[in-house]
Amino acid sequence: MRRIGKSANKYLEAVADLFIPRTCCICGGELRGFEKSFCTECFAELPFTFFWHYRSNPAKDTFVGRTNIEDVIALMVYKGEIREAMHNFKYHGQIGIGEELGELLGNAISTSPFMVDALKEGITIVPIPLHRRKKRKRGYNQAEVIARGVQKGIIDYMLGNTIQMSKDDAGKSNASKSNASKSDTSKSDASKSDASKNNAKSEQNIIGKIIVEPHLLKRVRFTNTQTRLNKLERFKNINDAFEVNEKRLKRYCSKKKRKK
Ligand SMILES: [Zn+2]
Repeated sequence: MRRIGKSANKYLEAVADLFIPRTCCICGGELRGFEKSFCTECFAELPFTFFWHYRSNPAKDTFVGRTNIEDVIALMVYKGEIREAMHNFKYHGQIGIGEELGELLGNAISTSPFMVDALKEGITIVPIPLHRRKKRKRGYNQAEVIARGVQKGIIDYMLGNTIQMSKDDAGKSNASKSNASKSDTSKSDASKSDASKNNAKSEQNIIGKIIVEPHLLKRVRFTNTQTRLNKLERFKNINDAFEVNEKRLKRYCSKKKRKK
């Protein structure tokens, strides 16, 4: 059903493109069907850091001595055209940009050698909350949009691998069965149905492991925009601005326990 839904969506997107052409958020050129916010040419120029391959990286260095932190990954260097794209995402409602950047970050995290174990165990993504006054004005919390994109990016990546592997496994087992007894089609059908049940189960398993919890933190102090602040001023600006939401944390912990 999901596949039919996806292809129907693609068809509708293609039809919609005929009437309202989508444009690249950087160069303004018309987007092709498979492109989301960035055209292929602008995408190739994006300033990716590749920090997710290196446990020790300049983004992590920023936090040394300031707070106890295990790993830091930054998707891109905040420079050039991406600054304007981020501005349009944050202040002009271009949510698709944040969703795509989140998905890219999710893909990057999925390929990170130091994230492998965490991803196997399952991870909880906690976006930084926006003050309710700002959220009301903007209509969305940009960190939550990115967090949901990250979740999608990781799940898509993991499902891509898992489904492929399961298909291969099912294919192999079907092939060997068919060699052993070519006339035994009922066995082969049963194995296909087992494989699809296993696929659905592992799909659910993966989806249940990568979760977004937007209410575990709460903002207790209104902070001014960080845009024009330097590094030290940014640290001061957000100091003591957040608290753990104890009520939500309790609910989250008991949900986790029930799953185990
Ligand atoms: Zn472009």
